[in-house]
Amino acid sequence: MITTTALSKSYRNAPVVRDVSLHCEPGTITGFLGPNGAGKSTTMRMLVGLARPDHGTSLIAGHPFVELPNPTRVVGTLLDPSAMHAGRTGRATLTIAARMAGVSTDRVDELLDRVGLADAADRRVGGYSLGMRQRLGIAQTLVGDPHVLILDEPANGLDPEGIAWMRRLLRDFADRGGTVLLSSHLLHEVQATADHLVVISQGAVVASGPMDELLASSSLLVRTSDPEALAAALRAARVDYVAGPDQTFVVDMVGGAVTTETVARIAFEKQVLLTELRHSDAGGLEQLFFSLTAADAAPTQEAAA
Ligand code: ADP
Repeated sequence: MITTTALSKSYRNAPVVRDVSLHCEPGTITGFLGPNGAGKSTTMRMLVGLARPDHGTSLIAGHPFVELPNPTRVVGTLLDPSAMHAGRTGRATLTIAARMAGVSTDRVDELLDRVGLADAADRRVGGYSLGMRQRLGIAQTLVGDPHVLILDEPANGLDPEGIAWMRRLLRDFADRGGTVLLSSHLLHEVQATADHLVVISQGAVVASGPMDELLASSSLLVRTSDPEALAAALRAARVDYVAGPDQTFVVDMVGGAVTTETVARIAFEKQVLLTELRHSDAGGLEQLFFSLTAADAAPTQEAAA
């Protein structure tokens, strides 16, 4: 449904997006995760024809966005909620969007209700909070009843209840066969919302795939009858680990330098008995993210905050 092939873009000779290939299937929510400045918005802007790639292609439902005859019927986009006309009411904003999409305005009230803005429908958007503008933006993406959604940082400004609401809305959309691509620099939001993950760092994709598979391949769980000896052996081999309860260790596998065989060999050479050695998601998305985006050191700290 959404496919990009080696999308690349530089601004003033500085590469911002480098060979980004994405593939999002119907029925899935893909979290596009990366520190601030990693190139998420630029990639999304190229997807919807707002920025021109230097190289590469992007297709939505099999067509470049600019060649879709009536894009709002195919794809709903939320890129910049501050871009709304401040002097219009929420109802007017959606009515105009429906007319531009060539669809009936009958659904406007239903949409206002669905995004929780029924009571604020006749207030001007200029007086809306950021969270309310995000809700209106999400209603706008749904006006043409599309089957693809592209949302840039949709949780910005939403309170926890709003984030939970958006998560349910997107899950329902995907469960009915829709395709969702959403960007975020917030780990928890992505972990709770997405089932697929694309991690971008300094403009390049550093990991992609189903969330559970990526998490499962991010760490090793190791158990031993002699934790002190194993800790010393891992340290001597310069393998990063975190000691856990019940004589366990969690070893970081991101980057591919450490495998089950690496750990088995280290233990074998030091005659340390292992009682368990398996892939695990114990490190969680946080460990995966920080390991993958280590090159983005300063922005990564901002993302953690
Ligand atoms: P993200 O969405 O991951 O935070 P962006 O795609 O917004 O990242 O930005 C990636 C980099 O590209 C940043 O360093 C940003 O300053 C730069 N950039 C984005 N748009 C422009 C532009 N129009 N002109 C120059 N630099 C830009």
